[in-house]
Amino acid sequence: MPTILKAIAADITTLAIDAIVNAANGSLQGGGGVDGAIHRAAGPDLLAECLTLGGCATGDARLTRGYRLPARYVIHTVGPVWHGGTAGEPDLLAACYRRSLAVAAAAGVRSLAFPSISTGIYGYPIAAAAAIAVDTVRVALPRHPGIREVVFCCYSPADLAVYAALLA
Ligand code: ADP
Repeated sequence: MPTILKAIAADITTLAIDAIVNAANGSLQGGGGVDGAIHRAAGPDLLAECLTLGGCATGDARLTRGYRLPARYVIHTVGPVWHGGTAGEPDLLAACYRRSLAVAAAAGVRSLAFPSISTGIYGYPIAAAAAIAVDTVRVALPRHPGIREVVFCCYSPADLAVYAALLA
């Protein structure tokens, strides 16, 4: 059975799925955007666990439990801030997707959802970021046969249209 890849428009904190990915910042101390929404929904135990991790480098990923979320785990990854595209942003963004999948697979995750990493406060243009997201996941998935479903969880209809076109 091929792995299911799909795009939806939803609040990622509502998804009943093995793991959701957080577009975190390097401190792992919470922030705005999807990061703030995930911490509000998961409750204070999530921040307490994050504070034990000692931060996370850009392009890397860390696993925590999901606490009050329907998702069992949160995978915190730190996307690059957009500086115009010549500061290594594409490689760092691809690394976020690869590392998140590797961390998920190591935890036995079978289904996970990604937000559109770096495309909010961090300013990465959506078309370029979505192409990296979809290509990187497609290339990496054969290394992780336990992962059966990957959801690109968009927050706006416009972002969903971009992802849906790439997946069509
Ligand atoms: P970054 O700092 O990596 O840019 P943001 O959280 O600002 O992270 O934005 C990343 C993406 O997450 C944006 O597309 C934003 O619209 C989206 N987003 C914000 N809140 C949610 C949510 N609750 N569920 C899913 N996506 C969200």
